[in-house]
Amino acid sequence: SAFQKLPGELQPEDVGTDDCLTSYTHIYSPDLLKDQVAFITGGGSGIGLRIAEIFMRHGCDTVIASRNLDKLKEAAKKLCAVSGRRCLPLCLDVRQPESITAAVDETLKEFGRIDILINNAAGNFLCPATSLSFNAFKTVLEIDTMGTFNTSKVVYEKWFKDHGGNIVNISATLGYKGQALQVHAGSAKAANDAMTKHLAVEWGHSGVRVNTVAPGPISGTEGYRRLGGPRGEAAGAFQSIPLQRAGNKTEMAHCTLFLASRASSYVTGAILVADGGAWLTSPNDFATLLGIASKSAKL
Ligand code: NAP
Repeated sequence: SAFQKLPGELQPEDVGTDDCLTSYTHIYSPDLLKDQVAFITGGGSGIGLRIAEIFMRHGCDTVIASRNLDKLKEAAKKLCAVSGRRCLPLCLDVRQPESITAAVDETLKEFGRIDILINNAAGNFLCPATSLSFNAFKTVLEIDTMGTFNTSKVVYEKWFKDHGGNIVNISATLGYKGQALQVHAGSAKAANDAMTKHLAVEWGHSGVRVNTVAPGPISGTEGYRRLGGPRGEAAGAFQSIPLQRAGNKTEMAHCTLFLASRASSYVTGAILVADGGAWLTSPNDFATLLGIASKSAKL
């Protein structure tokens, strides 16, 4: 349709599964990250996997680190095949500092450096506050918030303190308006957004930049499927978004690449909202959203 020719409709290639792209057109210089090393938590699936792929397509070697080693190994194989770069899959739980320390030691042994840290690991689901157990709230804070602090601190102390580096956190816009059914993730990400600024202030003198990408609804992710994305799309739920659509994983990877690279050399403590304007106009009526959520939970 004529709409597809509008600039806001132009989007880069993506595939909806946890596979690599079948074709890719560079926007940035293909050697933007040449011979750098990126450590990406949650890099075995969803947005993190696409960040790993796009970074590798720009000359970077990567470590993808999370709990499920089989999944990471499979992802690493695909990533190396498509990019010709190295990808090291490592098992860690961001809630356990010793497991992060071991993974960072292994990274430095294998690659000899770390240039970029992407804090992408997170857990999420829809749940009204009254049904959320104390433990569920705590777990989300532990993964999203403590996990981001733990990983940043280990990488800083072991490498960035003496060599500089770039941290990019993957956040969300949930806390901006107090999104219904998301008190856990919204609180966790709000803390992370504050952490972005605190660490930017304290670590800038070591040549470390700390920034954040805050995605809106992103197609081809577990979060999107769980939060009813595909059904929402069919029901026209994206018509309220200024750019009229969900974002894709490649778009999030491009924003992350900007913040992780010298393209943003004078940017620190910044939060780049990449949501097509969604949070400005998104519905947030508790009763309606509760109805939609309980209906989709039954399907
Ligand atoms: P995803 O595929 O579920 O990615 C989350 C990753 O985190 C998984 O690979 C998981 O791997 C890892 N992980 C979970 N708990 C962990 C732990 N304790 N230690 C280490 N790794 C852990 O979801 P996604 O949608 O791509 O989300 C990626 C990021 O984008 C998250 O920070 C999310 O909040 C943010 N985001 C997503 C959307 C969206 O529409 N999808 C919107 C806004 C923000 P293992 O299971 O192997 O540990």
